[in-house]
Amino acid sequence: MHVTLLRRARAIFVATPDGAKIATVLAVTSLALATAWLVHATGGVRFAMLHLMYVPVVLSALAFGVPGGLLAGIGGGLLLGPLMPQDTSTGELQGTLNWIYRLTFFTLIGALVGIGAQHLRRHLREMQWLYEHHPDNGLLNLAGLIKRLDRMMRGPKPPDVVLSITQLNNLLEIQNTFGSAFGMRVLSQVLERAQRLAPPGAWLALVQPDRLACVFPSAAAAQLTRERIEAAREESYVVDGLPIHVEASIGVAQAPEHAKSADELLQKASIAMHWAASGRSRISRYDSANDRTSRDNLVLLGGLPDAIERGELQVWHQAKMSLASREVTGTEALLRWNHPQRGVVLPSHFIPQAEETTLINAVMQAMVACAFADAAAWRAAGYPMRVAVNLSVRNLMDRMLTDVLERNAQRHGLEPSEIDLEVTESAVMADPDHCAALISQLRDRGFGVAIDDFGVGHSSLAYLQKLRVSALKIDQAFVRTLATDTSNQKIVRSILQLAQSLGLETVAEGVEDDASLVLLREWGCDYAQGYGVHRPAPSHELLQFVARRRAIARDAINRPDR
Ligand code: C2E
Ligand code: CA
Ligand code: CA
Repeated sequence: MHVTLLRRARAIFVATPDGAKIATVLAVTSLALATAWLVHATGGVRFAMLHLMYVPVVLSALAFGVPGGLLAGIGGGLLLGPLMPQDTSTGELQGTLNWIYRLTFFTLIGALVGIGAQHLRRHLREMQWLYEHHPDNGLLNLAGLIKRLDRMMRGPKPPDVVLSITQLNNLLEIQNTFGSAFGMRVLSQVLERAQRLAPPGAWLALVQPDRLACVFPSAAAAQLTRERIEAAREESYVVDGLPIHVEASIGVAQAPEHAKSADELLQKASIAMHWAASGRSRISRYDSANDRTSRDNLVLLGGLPDAIERGELQVWHQAKMSLASREVTGTEALLRWNHPQRGVVLPSHFIPQAEETTLINAVMQAMVACAFADAAAWRAAGYPMRVAVNLSVRNLMDRMLTDVLERNAQRHGLEPSEIDLEVTESAVMADPDHCAALISQLRDRGFGVAIDDFGVGHSSLAYLQKLRVSALKIDQAFVRTLATDTSNQKIVRSILQLAQSLGLETVAEGVEDDASLVLLREWGCDYAQGYGVHRPAPSHELLQFVARRRAIARDAINRPDR
């Protein structure tokens, strides 16, 4: 029994850090000896000082569990045992039963406190494990990843570490559609595949329900995995007999090149992952130059609310020309930020960031107010033109949208039929049912609605038929090289045919040369917009452009011989 007790004490002893162990043993022993001395010095066990022995007994039990409590109980009992007088002044010894009783009591208390302490420790260990792992799959979570990475990177000579963060883009959608149990089964297959693809020495963590981290021991190991991922890319998963495609965006960062600490490495890999997710490529490696741009743009975003207040957001317009009459019949309103330090800032520097926040709704309101005011001014000057404004996903979710549009139209004396709203396919697809209803509502109120950047999104043609839009804007990607690229010619022609068969107006965007204008006119496209017609400009410059064109057209009519 003594042997097992000693063995258990050793096991607990071994599990405690060295310095703390030695300090605790010394403290317990000194306290026990000091108590024995105090008991002796204050007159023997007859007096209350002997209860002080509970302190080292309890301390030992807390530190080393049951074995510690038992040993300290027996030790303390013996120290106050047969050799300790009942009363030092008379030299009277204690009765044997007396000290055996006490020893038993100390030992019992030591054992009980030890049991409690062991329970508590086990519970704390479980809590610690849960704090660092996922109970479902046993993988490390974010806290566990940071702790382990930190340990790797802290050493005197930290090794090269590559961290990848993989965002499973459509996992939440899968979960929402098929239920969370199904989603978990998909996730477990993804994890199995990741474990299969990871090279020896690499380890995984699940840092968010749809975000997986992998730590590689070297750049070569990471490269090997990248090749394996590319090879396995098209393999879909089969879950409950259903083929499931999981779309992933992967960001990679490397230490010590990109980061000095675990936190920083994680941050850099996450930034790269966001680049991958925003469509630059499926796998992105961290790049400090890009990051500076993102940081600059975020700083820029911070100044946006004040900029709106101070009226620094301006609207420029780009003409839309009717291909049949060659007249400018409308414009697309495009935002420009007239920044006091940076000059004119293009929307690509702040719109994507603003779209991530509800600030985009304030931007939309400012935009609508300016654009409608411009349209009212053109009409007053004798040049009535339609105006189109861009709406992003959050604008479409904004319950105030229809109200804002109608209120501003009324204020400036515009009819909704003079206003077009441009929405991209991807914005509509974010919540197709809601957007279909909203588009219907806007159309009922008389607004025109165009699908922007048509051709690059994923909406099905069947779905398009269900949307009550009034126009399609063919994406610049197909139009800019139209004159020379025969495959783009085929695409544009078929989009035009599709739009015509659905009774939709068509706008070709990004028309840069006359040859493309000729082709588009021949194929029956309704409007052209692009640098080849007009570059975006402030409202008064647009008006001058329109007036000049009209004067030229009038001249041509008045002098038909030319
Ligand atoms: P978009 O709606 O596709 O607007 C067309 C963009 O293409 C404009 O860039 C325009 O200047 C540019 N562009 C027009 N013709 C040509 C051409 O012939 N060649 C080339 N290379 N480019 C041409 P801009 O003004 O920088 O706007 C970029 C994007 O910012 C817009 O793309 C739109 O998505 C967004 N945006 C602009 N204003 C607003 C706004 O008020 N609200 C929202 N939500 N987004 C806006
Ligand atoms: Ca647009
Ligand atoms: Ca566009």
